[in-house]
Amino acid sequence: MRFKRLKLSGFKSFVDPTELRIEPGLTGVVGPNGCGKSNLLEALRWVMGEGSAKSLRGGGMEDVIFAGTAQRPARDFAEVQLLAETADNDDGEIEVVRRIERGAGSAYRLNGRDVRAKDVALLFADAATGAHSPALVSQGRISAVIAARPTERRAMLEEAAGIAGLHVRRKDAEQK
Ligand code: ATP
Ligand code: MG
Repeated sequence: MRFKRLKLSGFKSFVDPTELRIEPGLTGVVGPNGCGKSNLLEALRWVMGEGSAKSLRGGGMEDVIFAGTAQRPARDFAEVQLLAETADNDDGEIEVVRRIERGAGSAYRLNGRDVRAKDVALLFADAATGAHSPALVSQGRISAVIAARPTERRAMLEEAAGIAGLHVRRKDAEQK
């Protein structure tokens, strides 16, 4: 799977609709302090199903919604759309949209159809990408790898090896 485009609206500091093309190869995000680099990476993790507000530097999930500034009022929703190239379907592309509204929680769409958070997590877990993928290197992540407990480090390696999706499936199967 290869990410092609990320669209954000009302997500953290990205209040106005913003579109980013993601070209093949390694992508780096550079810019002055506070310009939104980490927010971008968080948007990518969020659309892939990140369920922890803390790992998005928020107290609650609604903290991802643009909170307003002295000049601009707050928004009541945030939406992130990810377009990816995949060999999984005939179109060769998938489009995932996550939207959160104040007081209404998150909703996901996959190629225009309503899906569950779990469906989205599984989709990306199998592709060795995912909200916690080591392919997304955020600030402090390198030192986190070094300081990790062995079990945590194993989880990182499994994710990198593309076998973490199997655990999601096994848990899923055990619940049935
Ligand atoms: P650094 O180089 O310091 O790591 P950065 O480019 O990673 O900076 P971010 O942390 O992505 O910057 O962006 C921080 C900015 O995003 C701050 O100005 C903060 O006020 C703003 N921000 C975060 N959450 C929201 C929100 N919900 N609504 C509005 N603005 C927000
Ligand atoms: Mg940052």
